[in-house]
Amino acid sequence: MHTFQLLRAQTPEDAVRLAGAAQEMQPRATRAVRFIAGGTTLMDLMKLDVEQPQQVIDINHLPLNQIEQTADGGLKIGALVRNSDLAHHPLILQRYPMLSQALLSGASAQLRNMATTGGNLLQRTRCVYFRDAATACNKRQPGSGCAALEGFHRNLAILGTSEQCIASNPSDMNVALTALEAVIHVRGPAGTRVIPVSEFYVLPGMTPERETVLAPDELVTHVALGAPPANGRSTYLKLRDRASYEFALASAAVMIELDRGLDSDHITRVRVALGGVGTRPWRSPEAEAVLLGAAPTVDNFAQAAAAAVRDARPHRDNLFKVDLIQRCLVQALRIAVSPARRSA
Ligand code: SF4
Repeated sequence: MHTFQLLRAQTPEDAVRLAGAAQEMQPRATRAVRFIAGGTTLMDLMKLDVEQPQQVIDINHLPLNQIEQTADGGLKIGALVRNSDLAHHPLILQRYPMLSQALLSGASAQLRNMATTGGNLLQRTRCVYFRDAATACNKRQPGSGCAALEGFHRNLAILGTSEQCIASNPSDMNVALTALEAVIHVRGPAGTRVIPVSEFYVLPGMTPERETVLAPDELVTHVALGAPPANGRSTYLKLRDRASYEFALASAAVMIELDRGLDSDHITRVRVALGGVGTRPWRSPEAEAVLLGAAPTVDNFAQAAAAAVRDARPHRDNLFKVDLIQRCLVQALRIAVSPARRSA
């Protein structure tokens, strides 16, 4: 592992100032400076020489580890809240069970005890070539090529891909946050800014090395959730090769509200996000458009699922995901509207 300078920040402003100063010393390097909290992604990638920051800023002492109710009935989740604490928090279990389900379906108990909300937001792909410095990877080494296109890509994306990169976003939490329309709060040298999760991740296009709209000296401080819908029903369903400690091949986070009519029910509000299949946590307005106003039937769920993959671009070994994600979404919707399911 290469050598680096470890700095400790005491406040968010301090962290941003240290990051800005480090970045000024290496203005051309997009990853010369990195924040570290749980370290569950960064330390792995540094050991593999995939990440080689010159400065690492320890943010574990910042006061960002609280979960607080907001005046509008929502929640403010500090960037340093550990995944296990978030998953088991009474307000999450009661109001946003889909988020708890997504968190508990990811990684292992040990990793969840270390991993933070902010770190999970920035979790990087599990493409095997990205993690192998001896192979071609445009995301790790821009312009070097993409070994996955002709190589092992069974676990990679079918939505939002480019000729430069087909890596999938590996996070479960981010899929749930997308369906919950979370808002990400960031502090940078010019002050704070607020970014809807739908605008936080960027498609790979010609620059797969860039994954979010964050600048190197911007720090995620917290994530805000709006008040859950009074009659919302939700679920997170994850399909994978084994039952634990495995990334999603396909997953679906759905939140749905129904109007119970005299003759028939219909859907009055719906949000659909997909995991394991997109280069970013994948909101599906196509599926939502089919479902809004429709009756909650399996036929309508299947039509929505077909709409969700209309623009899919599978490769040789991940063609199966086109069918798998449709089955996953249909089943998630069936679970969400089942009589036993009552809360968001
Ligand atoms: Fe690298 Fe992306 Fe290709 Fe994987 S899919 S090898 S991350 S460029």
